Amino acid sequence: CGIVGYAGARPALGIVLDGLRRLEYRGYDSAGVAVVCDDELLTEKKAGKLANLEKVLAERVSADPTGCQGAGIGDGTTGIGHTRWATHGGPTDRNAHPHLSPDNGVAVIHNGIIENFAKLRAELEDDGVIFLSDTDTECAAHLLSAALAELRAAGEPDGPALLAAAMRTVCQRLEGAFTLLAVDARVPGAVVGARRNSPLVVGRGDGENYLASDVAAFIEHTREAVELGQDQIVLITPDSIEITDFDGQPASGKDFHIDWDS
Ligand code: GLU
Repeated sequence: CGIVGYAGARPALGIVLDGLRRLEYRGYDSAGVAVVCDDELLTEKKAGKLANLEKVLAERVSADPTGCQGAGIGDGTTGIGHTRWATHGGPTDRNAHPHLSPDNGVAVIHNGIIENFAKLRAELEDDGVIFLSDTDTECAAHLLSAALAELRAAGEPDGPALLAAAMRTVCQRLEGAFTLLAVDARVPGAVVGARRNSPLVVGRGDGENYLASDVAAFIEHTREAVELGQDQIVLITPDSIEITDFDGQPASGKDFHIDWDS
């Protein structure tokens, strides 16, 4: 129900959690985060209030305050966060987002409903994929992981552009309503987003950029925003915002300045 993404120079965890708190008014039943830290994807997710998630995160951070090597979820500077309003699968820890690929390579969060998920799931299961949740969202994580593997096998170099290309492949297969964000352990410093029939805005910062389902999530950091159009992909890094359509053609969103008080 709420989505936040950050790519910058500051630790992502606190920024993402603050953003989720600002979206709490929309209602939700679970929450989760993923942070890219030293080429590792660190995630935590919990059913119930944001406070439940914050409690386990605080324990995790204080158990390993030394930083990025190991369980330094508090240190990575690329991150995504989600509050869930369950539509497919009950409000449990397991069904909370992010959803991961089996190798922990990619993490995906999603608002909306993937209408053709049953068909996609059956196809993936035929290929031997084991699902760990009852959500429609999880198929997007597996599809993204497969698309990335295929691009890498074809010799495409790792980097933000690879992540965006893989997300385009996934979106071409999805029906329904979605705001999707994803991060890849092998592409630190980038968050990719996509939208169809569900909102996604970019917050333009200085050496940092934001993605969110609602500007309220990043208004304390920047008031320069870009509203994505229908069927667009956006790739943010600390210094760049790149928008394309689902076919990879350059596209542009609608720039605007947020002038209301937070
Ligand atoms: N359909 C997804 C789920 O049930 C996402 C729900 C949402 O928008 O939070 O997990």
